[in-house]
Formats: sequence, structure tokens, C-alpha cells
Amino acid sequence: MINVTKTFFPPIEDYQAHVQRIWDNKWLTNNGKLYKELSHKLQEYLGVNQIIPMTNGTLPMQIALNAYGKCGEVITTPFSYVATTACVVWEKCTPVFVDIHPEYLTIDETKIEAAITSKTTAILATHVYGNPCAVDTIEAIAKKHNLKVIYDAAHGFGVTYKGQSIFNYGDVSTCSFHATKLFHSGEGGALFCQDEETRKEMWYRHNFGHDGPEKYHGLGINAKMSELQAAMGLSVLPYMEHILAERKRVCNYYDQHLEFSKVSKLKIREHTQWNYSYYPVIFKSEEELLETMKRLAAQDIHPRRYFYPSLEDLPYIESNSCPIAKDIAKRVMCLPFYTTLEEKDLEIIVNLIYHG
Ligand SMILES: *Cc1c(COP(=O)(O)O)cnc(C)c1O
Repeated sequence: MINVTKTFFPPIEDYQAHVQRIWDNKWLTNNGKLYKELSHKLQEYLGVNQIIPMTNGTLPMQIALNAYGKCGEVITTPFSYVATTACVVWEKCTPVFVDIHPEYLTIDETKIEAAITSKTTAILATHVYGNPCAVDTIEAIAKKHNLKVIYDAAHGFGVTYKGQSIFNYGDVSTCSFHATKLFHSGEGGALFCQDEETRKEMWYRHNFGHDGPEKYHGLGINAKMSELQAAMGLSVLPYMEHILAERKRVCNYYDQHLEFSKVSKLKIREHTQWNYSYYPVIFKSEEELLETMKRLAAQDIHPRRYFYPSLEDLPYIESNSCPIAKDIAKRVMCLPFYTTLEEKDLEIIVNLIYHG
């Protein structure tokens, strides 16, 4: 069976050595040694200003929205994983969808200003497939209208834009370290921000609002990363160069062997060093996509319809329509993409895309 992704497992000895340290320390969570070490190593590896590792990639978004959303309107993208919109609704804000750019597939920054009202509090956009949003324009719009910018950078691990980490843009960026993501800690994630003051605000929120054992800064939730998660993160991190090189190999194969008259591929924004996180292809019609999926499934090959449906169609929200996102969501599929995907399987996949 070939799935859209396959979790990277570091050598078990690496993991066992880190787990042994947990037993030696007799400390399982709450700012433990492994947590601090991972935090420090990630900050260095990514070149980020501030980082708070957390227990997954959804809670940091909720925490940022809890601080900045203020139950107002949040301008967001319909083309992302469901968590992006769900967080907005969960934090009692109203999602206002702005359509996407037809090639970059990120929020169309030229349509953001028209969606701003007196109730708008924040912009929550996704660097979908690790492709950066138009961060400079978005920052200018946010400044002009006094809005906060949150990036769902769940796919952004290792991406740089104009020479620095994509996590260094926006008031807050969030990443997921879920098992299916590029870098993982089983479950896990992180919040990134630009200054110490913001870090403090977010830190309190991710630990019940505690300011010492008997004092509370404000409302908080539990989003702490445990030592067991940190142990997995510390075991995976040394393999990032290997992971990226192998994914680049697979990406090059697809680039060279797919016929781009029949499917089109993602356009990566200029000034970006990309991370090979997904390989989306866009078919001419939903019918062609469904037929191709059937052919692949018959050979036990399972790509995924990332991201379908368009989030404006979620059953629990009312929304304006976003015709480009709706159209793309129907025609896009992510091809199998992981480190151990062999050339003989890649050949089968490419052939099945074109021939019945
Ligand atoms: C994976 C993902 C999330 C959620 O991250 P978790 O770590 O699973 O909570 C959020 N947004 C996007 C775009 C994702 O792909």
C-alpha cells in the first residue's frame, strides 16, 4: 500500500536514549529538560525570534485567536485544513473568507481590504503546502487597519522567505509537528512570535494562565508539550537534512516525469526557499481527478484530496462564496510524497495518472 504520506521513524536507539534521560530526570512534563533542549535547538535550526513548543498545532492557533480575535470577524482562507476555520469558530469569532490566488493557492491579498469591516480584528492566513502568503502586503494592510496577523504555518517547517524563516512573519505563526508533517514529535506543534512581550502573553495562555503557583495572569488553557513528545522531536530533528534531501529527490522525479499540459502544479512564490512538504497537482476537471483516484486505488495507491471541500462549505458556518477556492478544491490532489518512496513506485504512479 502506498499512502499520501509515511511517517518518518528515527532509529529506535535514538528515541530510547532520549527516553532514558526522561527516566533519569524523573520529570515528564512542565518545562522539562528535553522540552527546553528541543525549544533551543529548534530556535537555532529555524532561525526564529521566539518559540513556544506546544502539544499540537491547533492549540497555538486557538491561543492566538483567543488573544487577538476578540470575538470579532477574522479574515481567513477557505483553502486550508479544517483546523484553520474550526479554531476561528471555537474561539467565538466569525470567519470571513477571502478567495485564493489561482496559482499560489494562498489568500488573495488584493481582495483582503474589501472584506474589512469595523468588526474585523485579525487576519488568519495559511502558508498552504509551505507556500508563503504575500506577507509584505498583508503586513501593510494590517498596519493600516490596525489588525493582528496570525499565520497558520502548519506546513511551513524550514521554509524561508526573503532569507529568513517564514515563522518570523506575522504577529504570531503556528506550526504542526503532527506525525504526518515534515518534522514531527508524534503529536506536537509550536507558536512563534517576534518579541518577548508577545511570548509572555502566549506563554501564560498555554499554561492555564499561571503566573507562579498561586497567581493568575488571565484565562489560560493547557497546551504544554510533554517530555515524551520532546524526546521524539529531538530524535527526528538530526535527520532533517536527510528528510529534505529525499523529498527533493521525489519532487524532482515528479517535476521531470509529469506532463504539465495535463495537470498543473503549485507555483511557489518568488524569494522562497521551499520545504518539499506536499506535491499537489491540479486536474482539468473533478471528473478526471476522480477517475485517476480510482485507477490509483485499484493498485492500492492512495493520494489525498488536500484540501477538499473548500472550507466555506463547512456545515457549521454561513459564508460568502469563494469561486476560485471552490473550483480548485474540487480538482486538486496531493500525490504520495515521503522519504522512502522508490523510483519504481513513482514510475507506476506517474503512468497511472496518464493511462488507464
Ligand atoms: C495539520 C494541520 C493543522 C493542525 O495541526 P495539528 O498538529 O494536527 O493540531 C492545522 N492547519 C493545517 C493547515 C494543517 O495542515
